[in-house]
Amino acid sequence: MRHQLTGTPASRGMALGRARMVQPSLFTVDMRMLEDAEVGPEIARLHKAIDHARAELRELRSKLHGALAREVGDFIDAHSLLLDDEELLRGLDELVSVGHYTASAALKMQRDRLAAVFDAMNDPYLKSRGEDIDQVIGRVMSALFQSSSREERKLAARVGEIIVSDTVAPADLASMAGQGMLGVVTTAGSVYSHSAILARSFNLPMLVGTKDALATINDGDLVLIDAENGDVVVHPTAQDLARYRQWQRQAAAEGRRLAALASAPTLTRDGAHVRLFANAELAGDVTLARARGADGVGLYRSEFLFLRQRGLPSEDEQFAAYRDVVLGMGGLPVTIRTLDLGADKADSAGLAIRGEENPALGVRGIRLSLRYPDIFLVQLRAILRAACYGPVRVLVPMITHLGELTEVRRLLKKAREQLSLEGHELPERLDVGAMIEVPAAAIGVASILQKADFLAIGTNDLAQYTLAADRNNDALEGIYDPLQPAFLRLIAHVIAAARRAKKPVSLCGEIAGDIQFTALLLAMGLEEFSMHPGQLLQVRDRLTTLDCAALRRAAPHLFRAHTRDEVEQRLLAVVAKQDGCAGAA
Ligand code: PEP
Ligand code: MG
Repeated sequence: MRHQLTGTPASRGMALGRARMVQPSLFTVDMRMLEDAEVGPEIARLHKAIDHARAELRELRSKLHGALAREVGDFIDAHSLLLDDEELLRGLDELVSVGHYTASAALKMQRDRLAAVFDAMNDPYLKSRGEDIDQVIGRVMSALFQSSSREERKLAARVGEIIVSDTVAPADLASMAGQGMLGVVTTAGSVYSHSAILARSFNLPMLVGTKDALATINDGDLVLIDAENGDVVVHPTAQDLARYRQWQRQAAAEGRRLAALASAPTLTRDGAHVRLFANAELAGDVTLARARGADGVGLYRSEFLFLRQRGLPSEDEQFAAYRDVVLGMGGLPVTIRTLDLGADKADSAGLAIRGEENPALGVRGIRLSLRYPDIFLVQLRAILRAACYGPVRVLVPMITHLGELTEVRRLLKKAREQLSLEGHELPERLDVGAMIEVPAAAIGVASILQKADFLAIGTNDLAQYTLAADRNNDALEGIYDPLQPAFLRLIAHVIAAARRAKKPVSLCGEIAGDIQFTALLLAMGLEEFSMHPGQLLQVRDRLTTLDCAALRRAAPHLFRAHTRDEVEQRLLAVVAKQDGCAGAA
C-alpha cells in the first residue's frame, strides 16, 4: 500500500529504487540453536570478538594524553574490567556450550540480565553505570560482526538501491556510492553533516530526519525519494511515477538553461565581479568544477583521502592526489585543507580519537594534526611538493588561536628544509590560511590575520559552535539556523576585518552554495564564494539578478534585525525593491 513519509532534503533530486534497510546501530541477534559441531567454532568466534574489543580499548587508552587521559581513562578502565569479569565470561561460555545459543544471542542474554540488575539499583550513580554494560557488549557485538556483517554492510548497497538507515557515516556513504546506490533516507542526521556534504558531491538525493522510515519501510520495497519537496513515497502509484518523469524533464531543461552560464563571467546585475570557487572531495568534483567555470578550488577536503582507504596514505600517495587536483585545475588556484579528522570523521587508520565524550569539541582538525606532528609533516611535505605543479594555498581547519598558526608555520619551514636537503624542487611561496569556524577565531580575527595570508569562513562549524547546536542533530533545526542575527554579525565582522587587512576572505560552508543566502553574503561584502561545483551555476545565475551596491548599502539595516524572521523579511523587502527597479528599467 502506498504511504508517504516526510523528511528534510539534505541533497536535492529525486530517485526511484528498491529500499535497502541498513541499521548500523542495531545488531542482528541470531536466535537459532547451534548443532553440536557448531559449538566449538562459535566459542572461538566469541573469544576472538572479546579479544578484539580488549585490544581496541587498549589502543584507545594508549592514545589518550593529558587531561583527556584522566577523564576518559577511568571509563575505559571500567570497560576493560568488565571484559575481564569472570562471571560475565563464564556465563557467556555456558550459554554457548551448554545452552547451544549463538554468540550474539549469548551476548544479548547476558546484557539483558546485567541491565536488569543495574536497573533495580536504587543508587542513581550505580544505575547509570548500566550504560557501561551496553557499551561493552556493543563493542563485542560490533567485533563479532566485523568479519561478517561489516562486509555485508559494505556490500549492502547495490546498483539501484536506496539506503534507509538511522544515520550513515561519511566513510560508509562514500563506499556505498561507489557501488551504485541511488539515494539515502535517514531517520536522524542533518543537512550540514559531512555525510550530507558527500551526498551532494555524489549527486545522490538524500533525506534526513525521516522519522518513521525504519519502522515503516521494508527491505526491497519500491521507494521514490523526492528530495526536492522532502518526501519519500513507499510503493509509488502511477501518478507518483508521472511526477518523477515530469521532474526528470524539468531538471534536464533547467540543466540546459544553466549550462549556458558555464563559460559566462560571474557578475552581479550592477557589474560587480564575484569569484566562485569549488569545494572538492572527489576527483569528479574537480572535473565538474572545470566544466562549470569555477575560479579555482576554494576547499579541498583532504581528509576524504584518509577516509576512503585503510591505513594512512603515504607521502607519495598524498602527493599524487594533490598534484592531480592541481593539474586538473589547469593553473587555477587550489586550496588544500590539511586534515580535518575527528568529530564525525573517523579514519580507518585510527588516527582520530574514538570514544571522546564530546567529539565535536574534542581533538579534531588542527588539534589532531599537532598531536601527531610526524604525520602532519608528511602531509605538509606532500602539499609542498604538489605546489610545484600550479598555484596552491594551504588552509588550516579548526584554528582557535594564533599559536596554532605559528606552529603550522614552524612545521612548514621544517618540511621545506627537509625537502630541500633531499633535493626536491620547492614552490617559491605557499600561502597559509586559517579556517574561521571556531567563535574564538572569529572574535579574535584581527590577531589571526597577523599570521594568516587568507581566511576561509567555515560556516557549517562556525554556526554549530556559535549557536551551541550540533550540526548533525536534526532536533536542533530551529536553533542551528544560519539566519540568526548574532551569527550573521559574526560573519560580517570577519569579512570586514579581512577586507580592512586587505587579505582575501572566502566562505566555504554550505550556505555559500545556497541561493537563499547569496544576497545576504553579498550584502556582507563577500566577494569569494566556495561551494560544491554542482551549485555553481545556480549561484552565478542568482548573482546576475542582484544589485551588489544596493545590497551593501542595506547591510546595516539587515544586520540590526533582532530575529531571524526579521532578517528574512528585511532581506526579502530589499531584494523585492531591486526586482521592482529592474522590472521598471
Ligand atoms: C565548515 O565547517 O563550514 C567547513 C567548510 O568545513 P567542514 O564542513 O568540512 O567541517
Ligand atoms: Mg568545518
